[in-house]
Amino acid sequence: MTETPKKRWLLRAKDLLRMHDGELTRGLSRTQGGFGLGQVPERLKPDATTNMICGFCSTGCSLSIHLKNGQAINLSPARDYPVNLGMACPKGWESLTPLKAADRATQPLLKDANGKLVPTDWPTALSTFVTRMRAIQAKYGPDSVAFLSTGQIPTEEMALLGSIAKFGMGMVHGDGNTRQCMATSVVAYKESFGFDAPPFTYKDFEESDVLVFVGANPCIAHPIMWERVCKNPNNPEIVVIDPRRTETAMAATLHVPLAPKSDLALLYGVAALLIKQGMVDKEFVAEHTEGYAEFAEHVAKFTPKEVCERTGLPYETLSKLAELIGRGKRVSFWWTMGVNQSYEGVRTAQAIIALALITGNIGRPGTGPNSITGQCNAMGSRLFSNTTNLLGGRDFTNADHRADVAQLLNIDVQRIPQRGSFAYDQIISGILSGKIKGLWVIATNTAHSWINQADLHDTLKRLDFLVVQDMYSTTETAVRADLVLPAAGWGEKEGTFINSERRIGVIKRVSRAPGQALADFYIFKAVAEAWGLGEMFEEWSSPEAVFQILKRLSRGRPCDFSGIQGYEQIDSLGGIQWPLPEGQAPQQSEERRLFADGQFFRENGRARFLFADPAPLPEAPNAKFPLMLLTGRGSSAQWHTETRTKKSEVLKKLHPGVPYVEVSPVDAKALDLGPTDWVRVRSARGSVTVKAFITHVVQPGQVFMPMHHPETNQLTFAAFDPYSRQPSYKACAVRLERLDSSP
Ligand code: SF4
Repeated sequence: MTETPKKRWLLRAKDLLRMHDGELTRGLSRTQGGFGLGQVPERLKPDATTNMICGFCSTGCSLSIHLKNGQAINLSPARDYPVNLGMACPKGWESLTPLKAADRATQPLLKDANGKLVPTDWPTALSTFVTRMRAIQAKYGPDSVAFLSTGQIPTEEMALLGSIAKFGMGMVHGDGNTRQCMATSVVAYKESFGFDAPPFTYKDFEESDVLVFVGANPCIAHPIMWERVCKNPNNPEIVVIDPRRTETAMAATLHVPLAPKSDLALLYGVAALLIKQGMVDKEFVAEHTEGYAEFAEHVAKFTPKEVCERTGLPYETLSKLAELIGRGKRVSFWWTMGVNQSYEGVRTAQAIIALALITGNIGRPGTGPNSITGQCNAMGSRLFSNTTNLLGGRDFTNADHRADVAQLLNIDVQRIPQRGSFAYDQIISGILSGKIKGLWVIATNTAHSWINQADLHDTLKRLDFLVVQDMYSTTETAVRADLVLPAAGWGEKEGTFINSERRIGVIKRVSRAPGQALADFYIFKAVAEAWGLGEMFEEWSSPEAVFQILKRLSRGRPCDFSGIQGYEQIDSLGGIQWPLPEGQAPQQSEERRLFADGQFFRENGRARFLFADPAPLPEAPNAKFPLMLLTGRGSSAQWHTETRTKKSEVLKKLHPGVPYVEVSPVDAKALDLGPTDWVRVRSARGSVTVKAFITHVVQPGQVFMPMHHPETNQLTFAAFDPYSRQPSYKACAVRLERLDSSP
């Protein structure tokens, strides 16, 4: 029989399914210290235990997975891993449960003539993918199809996806859900330090004498990091800057309950006080920074009077905050989504960086302007997803960077797009304007998580072809797809994650994916084969082979980890932080920070001050919608859109089962609300019915809803930071209407 190209990739697709089974044997053999094929499969050993990184948040805890007959049956937190030191949060403990959910996607699904998703086989799914994406490209141009990736899959998978899409399939536009959480920090660090480089290590939580949390609630969002704070032996001052009296604020020594989105003015006001009171590390500023004089001039106009008016804080609080920062010997600043998810997040993050720079709190133990990441592999995505950055934190618009990558990957440089990608919001608006006609969504739940949901749902309907690749066929996004590709989840595949402190850790295959679900890696490989790119990605043969390619791509870059041998070494040393250039020997459980030498990644080696005047709220409360809606994480038992965590009965018991809104007692009284009442929350975008939770956590005039319930993004207002394009989820105008009965 002659092997035509089509027959060839159909055969390869079947091979890939078989490889998936082989992969189980290989992945588990690692627990015996071996990685190659042909080793005794660990799954035959009934009582093995192997360690791997948790697949939820960016803390990167290690979990000991206990196996029976080669399958995971239980887990416990790894005791000797430098990140979590024997601890895990509820999500980590329940990591294995979502794998067994009844609504796992077990075979490809294709929309039929009646608009119903019906089962199909892999060859048909792949053939449909290729035929329809190619037809769109032929009609509207190669850049009319785009992809939305994720921070939830291993670095090797995201690099493969980004490379196939952009170097092979001719796509220009691809972004990821890390746009929703980390884009602001990426841009802030890049502009200030010359590279996206969070400088800290978790040891800093234990070594500070003053910790300042800005828009961060680690008790709930990063509980194991909070445990590290609790281990601090220095009796530290803990400052929480947050409009809400969060669980972390309750535990703080100083809560700064500023008015929502007055953070930029507050930080400038603190800088102005520090400068005025001579609490500036002049030597550090002179030797290691650039633009201080202009910054000092800018912040001078943020007088205490001005700042107190904008923030609603008394002078005593402002002054105390400045004093704590100015007099502290080891001051660390930590921020998350309260800063990042803002229409002026980049400049706010850079105001935090400025405070660290003017006080010389960087590069020493217990210091740093430290952005805490969100998803388990957001850092991997930032460096290697090949979405808006070229592989290795490079730039698509830089000819030298394109030439480097072409040479390192041995591909024609013309295959690398010369322009940057649309950001997530621009891909969405590209669908509206007719520029984007085909979309491939991988391991993210856009239809739930994107801002101003009703508009988004309408926009998705305009696509000619929507492909969703996910563990579940029931997500709000998957049910809208034309084609669903069933994917293996965390625990069913291998690769590496990079956590918030730049630590690379390994995940393994400890459970067999259900039905025909494949590791995303092998779905990408099958798509590449079907597209005719098999030869081009021959070297990308397995996750560990791709790790070796990534090492090559990192060499000489600030994130250089070419000195790491491979998965086994990472595993045995308790993870390895980047950078680790060739020739440098990693130590067991090492904890390293950046910038100890005061040298930053900019050409002149200096960190840069960047600043701007605070902008007005995109949608301020008004007569019709008098309350400010804040959003955020609700509990440590929930994860993002709850795609996985709602599969666990244990986790469901650990948080309120119904959507709710926090209301202050003052507003509750004005609305005649009782503790068991339901309310309608209405914004200019829509209205939702939720339970009222009357609490002093929120201030009068403000209400709060957790992000996990789909109701919340029916209300949010689509505004974006102009530099990072990150959505501003945190502040929009709403009103409450009391309902006479529960729904
Ligand atoms: S803190 Fe994060 S990484 Fe650690 S167990 Fe919980 S979800 Fe997993």
